[in-house]
Amino acid sequence: MNNAFSVSITTGDNPNDAVIKGINNLGGISKFIEKDETVFIKINLTMITGFPSNVNFNTLIEVIKLCKTAGAKKIYVGSFPFENLTIKDVSEELGLKEFTEYFGSELAFLDNSDKLKISKEEKLRLQKESFKEVEVQDSIIKYPKLILNVDKFICINQVNVHPLFDIHLSLLNLFSCIPFKFRKIEHQEDVEKDYIIADQYKTDLISRILDIYEIKKSNLIINDLFYFMEGAGPFIYKDSKINPIKHIVCGNEAIATDYITLKILGLNPKKNFLMSHWIEKNIGISNLEKINLSGENLEDINFTFKQCKKRIEDIYVQKFNIKKGEICSGCFLQSYYLLNFLKTFFLKDLNYLPQCSYLVGANPLEPDSPNNILLYGDCAIKTTEKREFRTIEKEGKDIKTLFLKKAIIEKKNKKILEIPGCPPNLQDTLNLFLRYFKKSNLPTLNFYMKKLNKTQKNS
Ligand code: SF4
Repeated sequence: MNNAFSVSITTGDNPNDAVIKGINNLGGISKFIEKDETVFIKINLTMITGFPSNVNFNTLIEVIKLCKTAGAKKIYVGSFPFENLTIKDVSEELGLKEFTEYFGSELAFLDNSDKLKISKEEKLRLQKESFKEVEVQDSIIKYPKLILNVDKFICINQVNVHPLFDIHLSLLNLFSCIPFKFRKIEHQEDVEKDYIIADQYKTDLISRILDIYEIKKSNLIINDLFYFMEGAGPFIYKDSKINPIKHIVCGNEAIATDYITLKILGLNPKKNFLMSHWIEKNIGISNLEKINLSGENLEDINFTFKQCKKRIEDIYVQKFNIKKGEICSGCFLQSYYLLNFLKTFFLKDLNYLPQCSYLVGANPLEPDSPNNILLYGDCAIKTTEKREFRTIEKEGKDIKTLFLKKAIIEKKNKKILEIPGCPPNLQDTLNLFLRYFKKSNLPTLNFYMKKLNKTQKNS
């Protein structure tokens, strides 16, 4: 990272005005894009929900227009969505392909999900052709060739709250330049206590995020805070609120742009897990303090917001009694999404469910009853193997006696749902819920999963 970091903070009546001003403050679009260059615009494209889970279309339109003014030959727009969702799934729901074409750009199907009815072999061949194996630190990362090969790389990051990293920084946006399966941090061996105590999951996740950022540095970063979602976060419309901060932060470097964005939101960058890890690994904070700032005065901006809940047991979901043990960031993050997802989209279904005990982490608290115990994650499953609730006593016939006398016998408790994974993923968990609670008790979830499972089968 050299010393020529430039960051601009702008405001305006709408995101379009604010982004134009921001780029102009940095020297104008021609400073970033030259005639006949190819451009990739990395956006947030997470779920089949709209803004602000995904990019603000107004900001995107303006950036596409600016690139065209600068004479860009070809403009791609893209990202990889959450978990098993394909780009086609999201595009079809949001009309993204048509939208990007209308404005003279192209939605990049980085996952080849637009190629219909092709054989498994053909799919594998395409996958191989679309990714390049890049060596970073000690690992090999498969990165899309399309992004590697463009002349210029722009990141438009919609900033919202984030359960683990306080806010969704551009570093997190850049992380989804690779498919979800390559982003996943999975611990294959038996979980040792140290893994949880040291929160190795979080350390590994941060290292991978920073590795991806290093592979292809963005030429222009736009942290879009014009509308900022606070509270529970963008996947979760319940308990969340959109706040019009009306600021856009543009910069020529991701770390520097994120650093200023954190400050705007009143957060100490040195206390942010991602930023502090980067600072520790690199030359220190001194360079970041020499950022060439333009536009609004940072000291005049005073903004406070409601953060995500940082403890799983503080998330209230009807019928779910949370019994936590020792957990690391993996089960925290996935439980956070699961619980909030349920209370946002499946509120009606929750009425039909019985009371459940949701046990998460190593050595979790005792369930309220032997009925409907959800064991979330490998730690909860393994460390409760010998617990009393695993068996129930029932009246039966003692086969050891001659006349099969009546006796109290121990049986395996079948009212337990094991949700494996370290941590488990959301889609598998929801499919397991459908099987355990029966589809008729979860009509909305059943409809949602049918649609999701079908589109994935076809793609
Ligand atoms: S099962 Fe969950 S709590 Fe245990 S190590 Fe894995 S992610 Fe962490």
